[in-house]
Amino acid sequence: MTKGIKVLVIEDDKYIYSFIAVSLRKEGYDVFGAETGTQGQFLFSLEHPDIILLDLGLPDKDGILVLKELRKESQVPILVVSARGHEQEKILALDAGADDYITKPFYIGELMARIRVVERKIDQNPIHVTNGIFQCDYLTIDFEKRHVFIDDLEVHLTPIEFKLLSLLISNRGRVLTHNFILNQVWGYEETGDTKTVRVFMASLRRKIEKDTMKPRFILTEVGIGYRFSDQ
Ligand code: CA
Repeated sequence: MTKGIKVLVIEDDKYIYSFIAVSLRKEGYDVFGAETGTQGQFLFSLEHPDIILLDLGLPDKDGILVLKELRKESQVPILVVSARGHEQEKILALDAGADDYITKPFYIGELMARIRVVERKIDQNPIHVTNGIFQCDYLTIDFEKRHVFIDDLEVHLTPIEFKLLSLLISNRGRVLTHNFILNQVWGYEETGDTKTVRVFMASLRRKIEKDTMKPRFILTEVGIGYRFSDQ
């Protein structure tokens, strides 16, 4: 089985590297590794991988710095795989341009699922929109006419709510930080009042979720932000 997708794994722990490499190769990925940030950046410019898995605790330089430097030259999907599990670390990585974050130790199935999400970024049409219509379960959105339907009933969204929903859907499966959302929807620079995001997200949820206690679409990443369901 060959997928022909090149994955660069920047990871100094040999045991974790071989665990990831063996598992990914089994799924048909073409895997190669770097033990330091510098080597990783060198291999990136040499091999042009489709996806990068990046550890943050590297022997020569901090992974966040590697991430920022890679982002300056490329939009390649970068999935951070790190033992640093604090919310603040995750936010730092996501705001520095990581596509997603997975905390060690992890289940290989979880890693695979996250990789499949970032893989869609490589596809031409990452979201399933046909003729401007997005349909998932009981939610239908007509992006051209800006109409939203729950089952067959139209719900009215405010312009901000519609913008918020569009942003979530176009980044489906990816976690978006409060700051990223503030920046994209309201245009604020750097840090802002994350309460605004929570308030609008709550009102959006009341309109599109049948059970706001168990959201079907807009999932909360506690302390970090939101993710539109990938299922
Ligand atoms: Ca490490």
